[in-house]
Amino acid sequence: MKKFLAMVLLGIVACYTAGCRKPAETRQTFKWEIDRFADIRILRYQVPGFEQLTPRQKELIYYLSEAALWGRDIIFDQNYKHNLKIRKTLDAIVEGYQGDRTTPDWENFMVYVKRVWFSNGIHHHYSTDKIMPEFSSEYFESLIRGSQGVAFPLEEGQTIDDFIAFLKPIIFDPTVAPKKVSQDPSGDLVANSAVNFYEGLTQKEVEEYYARIIDKNDPTPISYGLNSRLVKRDGKIVEEVYRVGGKYGPAIEKIVYWLEKAAAVAENDQQRRVIEKLIEYYRTGDLRKFDEYSILWVNDTESAVDFINGFIEVYNDPLGMKASWEALVNFKNPEATKRVAVISENAQWFEDHSPIDPRFKREKATGVSAKVITAAMLGGDCYPSTPIGINLPNANWIRRTHGSKSVTLENITYAYDQSSLDSPFGPEFTYNEEILERIKKYGSLAGNVHTDLHEVLGHGSGKLLPGVSSEALKNYHSPVEEARADLFALYFMMDPKLVELGVLPDEEAARAEYDVQIRNGLMTQLTRIQPGKTIEQAHMRARALISHWVYEKGQPDNVISKVTRDGKTFFVINDYQKLRQLYGELLREIQRITSEGDYEAARALVEKYGVQVDQELHREVLERYRKLNLAPYAGFINPEYTPVVVDGRMTDVKISHPDDYVKQMLHYGKAYSIL
Ligand code: ZN
Repeated sequence: MKKFLAMVLLGIVACYTAGCRKPAETRQTFKWEIDRFADIRILRYQVPGFEQLTPRQKELIYYLSEAALWGRDIIFDQNYKHNLKIRKTLDAIVEGYQGDRTTPDWENFMVYVKRVWFSNGIHHHYSTDKIMPEFSSEYFESLIRGSQGVAFPLEEGQTIDDFIAFLKPIIFDPTVAPKKVSQDPSGDLVANSAVNFYEGLTQKEVEEYYARIIDKNDPTPISYGLNSRLVKRDGKIVEEVYRVGGKYGPAIEKIVYWLEKAAAVAENDQQRRVIEKLIEYYRTGDLRKFDEYSILWVNDTESAVDFINGFIEVYNDPLGMKASWEALVNFKNPEATKRVAVISENAQWFEDHSPIDPRFKREKATGVSAKVITAAMLGGDCYPSTPIGINLPNANWIRRTHGSKSVTLENITYAYDQSSLDSPFGPEFTYNEEILERIKKYGSLAGNVHTDLHEVLGHGSGKLLPGVSSEALKNYHSPVEEARADLFALYFMMDPKLVELGVLPDEEAARAEYDVQIRNGLMTQLTRIQPGKTIEQAHMRARALISHWVYEKGQPDNVISKVTRDGKTFFVINDYQKLRQLYGELLREIQRITSEGDYEAARALVEKYGVQVDQELHREVLERYRKLNLAPYAGFINPEYTPVVVDGRMTDVKISHPDDYVKQMLHYGKAYSIL
């Protein structure tokens, strides 16, 4: 064990040398940012290490990538019931419009199209507000009528006039489907959300339906409702299950086809069983099989290549039950994995030293398996906007009994960092040069370690009291859970243990992370909010909650001060150790809320600290931000994989990095559309 640690220490120390993880020339020659529109930048990611994989591993990645791309129609349809029709219409116009493509109207139209592609639908991927076009419905009509040689998705017997009349309000009327996911607890969360998980039902009906079928005494409950659309038909409530022969059947058949090919070239038996079980689940829609698959998957820690493919995360469901389809193909980054392995191996130490009530601690912090991966293909809800860390499976009893798998997508964070090296953002919102330099020096590493702690230990720490359901916090579950994982990370960032383990070089790195978190939570994440709106996204609510809470509680000791200079607001941390103690206190309370399922306390905390926006500060931040002329969101286009086939056998797979966002989207729309 000691030898392993020493090796890791060397590896980590080497990583502090600037740019060691990538050859220096890539920085100059690789074009990271390829497109920019509205509030979005489109980046590319590299796939370092792909060339070094074996031909069989490359073949496996190729098949899994095809399976990842075939779910694109599913996520569009899940996000809103008319999204597919709209996307097909937009694609057809881009391909077939014969008129002038140099006018401002056309430019605005293309911005709209790019935004719909980016969000997998007509609602903003982050705010979930409906995207309003900056061109008229008359212009839109002229585009449809002026397109040739392309087919529009007309219903049988529908005339083009009817078709246009049908689409206009859906796209242009701000009162039609204004919100993908409503979080407003004063209204009906189901009826007020455009997301396509429920049809013709009220929140009350949905809640009653599941209350009837959920077995509260089952120690190993299935994830009820995870893979279905709930609809009311002829007065009866029916679950339309996503499976071969069921809802989304044709797309799932394609996914299964490629998964079968992948199973045939699996790296080992365990991985083959994982893929075969997933196929079984896709064929039957049986959620017991999904649990069996999840257990096999979490136990597959040996394979270099890995993947996620399915109905996984529930963020898009206002009730937190139904999952969006997503996919990610990846392979292990062995060097960087050593860093998280150290954290993971010490899981018990962290659990023991966590500031939470001992009643809520896990006696045995087991099975936290963590690795740093290189993303090779993004699909569904992970594309083009992608997470940088993932921790699965989500079922609590599986996590408790079998552990969970945590991954950090380092080639993705690397692309983010590289693409914003010279951004004016830091100088604008950072109080002084000293803090800015510290963030530049440590920010990337500290950010990665924060993600590691959040994913590897944070989500997996603590336990629910017997009888408390993970759904107890309802619509506050996601922000509270994210806050819990973030607080765990923040509290331990500053612990001398991290330096002792060689994960961080010194306390300065932790300070850099605190600087970034406070700056973001109190101020800069407001750049992602429209004027007059409140905070809705779960991670943002979590960060706002944490920062506002510690800011308020630290007032007597002036832990964080608000400073104004030349009319510009800054938040400056005066006492890093006291701030750490406050993070610990809040972690203790958030864990209590989670463990006891204290819905009222969760509601009070989130609504008071995580939702509201200081209007005046918001105006100022938006104005400062606007002057920088930046885009707050980024996403990625995928590389392309081309098989080399000799005598009917795949002998190699070539990777290339296209740089045309429009082309990739049109290509996907043609090659991977079946619903
Ligand atoms: Zn998280």
